[in-house]
Amino acid sequence: MIRYSLSCSKGHMFEDWFDNMADYDAKAAKKKLVCPECGDKKVGKALMAPSIGSSAAAAPAPSCGIGGGGCGGCPMAGMHG
Ligand SMILES: [Zn+2]
Repeated sequence: MIRYSLSCSKGHMFEDWFDNMADYDAKAAKKKLVCPECGDKKVGKALMAPSIGSSAAAAPAPSCGIGGGGCGGCPMAGMHG
């Protein structure tokens, strides 16, 4: 079983289980994937967020989109200010 993070065209995030990649492809092709939030059938795999924390020195600093730019109030401000 594979768990995919999915998102609809309206940006709702949810997860679903599939037997394998082919199972996902088949359900996607048949429009069997439906957003549980709004019923949208334009569902695709969500971009997987990169794992953060294991190697902070090598990983690029996470961008802080909260607040419309800038890192004021962001808990990460001290790391890359
Ligand atoms: Zn939705």
